Amino acid sequence: MVLDKELAELIFPDVHDTIEDLEKRYPKRNLAQGCEVTRFAPSPTGFLHTGSLFTSLICHKVAKDSNGVFYVRLEDTDTKREIQGSGEELLKQLHLFGIDPSEGYLGNSQKGEYGPYIQSERAYIYKVVIKHLLEEGKAYPCFCSQEELDDIRAKQEKAKIIPGYYGPFAKYRYLTNDERKERILRGDPYVIRFKSSGNHVRKIKVSDLVHGNFEIAENDMDIVIFKSDGLPTYHFAHVCDDHFMRTTTVIRGEEWIASLPIHIELFKALGWEAPKYAHLPVIMKIGENGNKRKLSKRLDNEAAVSYFLKDGYPSEALIMYLMTIANSNFEEWIFEHHFEHMEDFHFSFDKMSLEGALFDMGKLNFFSKEILSKKNKYEIKDMAISYAKEYNPNLLSLINRDEDYFMEIMNIEREKENPRKDYEKLGGLDEAISFFYSDLYDASIKENPLSFNERFSKDDIKEVLTSIKDNLSLEQDEQSWFNNMKEIGEKLGYAPNGKMYKQNPESYKGSVSDVAEMIRISLTTRRNSPNLYYVMKVLKKEECDRRFNSVISNL
Ligand code: GLU
Repeated sequence: MVLDKELAELIFPDVHDTIEDLEKRYPKRNLAQGCEVTRFAPSPTGFLHTGSLFTSLICHKVAKDSNGVFYVRLEDTDTKREIQGSGEELLKQLHLFGIDPSEGYLGNSQKGEYGPYIQSERAYIYKVVIKHLLEEGKAYPCFCSQEELDDIRAKQEKAKIIPGYYGPFAKYRYLTNDERKERILRGDPYVIRFKSSGNHVRKIKVSDLVHGNFEIAENDMDIVIFKSDGLPTYHFAHVCDDHFMRTTTVIRGEEWIASLPIHIELFKALGWEAPKYAHLPVIMKIGENGNKRKLSKRLDNEAAVSYFLKDGYPSEALIMYLMTIANSNFEEWIFEHHFEHMEDFHFSFDKMSLEGALFDMGKLNFFSKEILSKKNKYEIKDMAISYAKEYNPNLLSLINRDEDYFMEIMNIEREKENPRKDYEKLGGLDEAISFFYSDLYDASIKENPLSFNERFSKDDIKEVLTSIKDNLSLEQDEQSWFNNMKEIGEKLGYAPNGKMYKQNPESYKGSVSDVAEMIRISLTTRRNSPNLYYVMKVLKKEECDRRFNSVISNL
């Protein structure tokens, strides 16, 4: 009669290490009480999802707040879904958001004593643990073909019972070791399954840092732990890796709650203490039919982090926004702290809402404006250059024409107590500032005639522009400049303020704001622009006059 140990040897003849060897190689971490070891465990199957950025943000924060360790593990066991290069890309993107692991898979390299941190390089470790389970009779080779699996499922569906490979349906669980040996020697393909001793009628108590304590049915499925390609499944790899990498808290998406009973049973079968778990709520949005749904890779731009990068949102803005989803008290805190030093905020799982948060673009835009308005002209220039290098060659060429001029443009009403929030993101900045450049201004005028308010005749406009050109000096402070503009307007029949005009509309042609609008449209081609006084100062008198003359002669 073939013993479990012999069968294990037959399956893994090259595995000579034991679990004890692994315990020695990956000893408990020497960290102070309360230090959390967390990990972000992406699969290299595509772009960084906004939900994954959220998860990694929390993992990073929890480790940082506790002086612990945050590491990244690349979960590449699903070789069919792997997209070449996406692991490196994920790490690059995390870095842009200030989420840098101190250990683990770093993109082009790995760092740390608990590696390798790429699952496909850990095959030997998994084999050691699976060999141990085989020796203990807690796992078995399963020779079930796809047809047999389909057949089992069809029977279960017909009988309206829970589908899956369990109990009486787990047909290869009942082979003898002699039969197993015979099939292996014959070369029959197989996977290795865990022999569950659970019963779904029984419940286990679980504790989750976000969801609190709850009960959930035991696992009774004989799940595959080792595939025929020599790699483990997620469930098994998670248990092995988080044990030997000495993770203290597993932080992952809520979609994994359903598999928690499997993981708990595996930890038990191996005699290991399970880590703490925190299952994070998913990020939702209101779908086309008005109902909440998960952000979808296929349907929603905002599901991919790259969307925000391409659009030129400052990474801090997205992180700040995600923190409002993470903790209900963050928003008030960050207002009180003037949108600065968010690293000082103390994150707590208790303050996380259980319901999936709705992605709120408006709130993100708000944070983005705040953050951009707080940068000084040098910071803005550096941010714009690195953004433009990656995504916007037009913008880059504008900045490269004259960096100082670009900074002057961006410095309009910046670096003061209440800076103006003219810019929401860097995407489209080339468009927004194009009128500051004479050639682009000229080209725009040629293509699109200026659209002045139709209440005013060409002669009215000519009269205002000529008078402004000849009499409005820029060599004075803003208030005097404005008063001066009012006086010029008044002489031509424009009320010095809106109130007076409203009270007596027939006595005036319009008000000072109409005068300002004529100037603004003439100089910038648009109805909205940064502060007109400063726009004129940046353009300088000579260029303003050139533009006035050209508008006047073309009217
Ligand atoms: N590789 C898994 C995923 O991408 C990770 C889940 C976990 O954090 O354990 O969903």
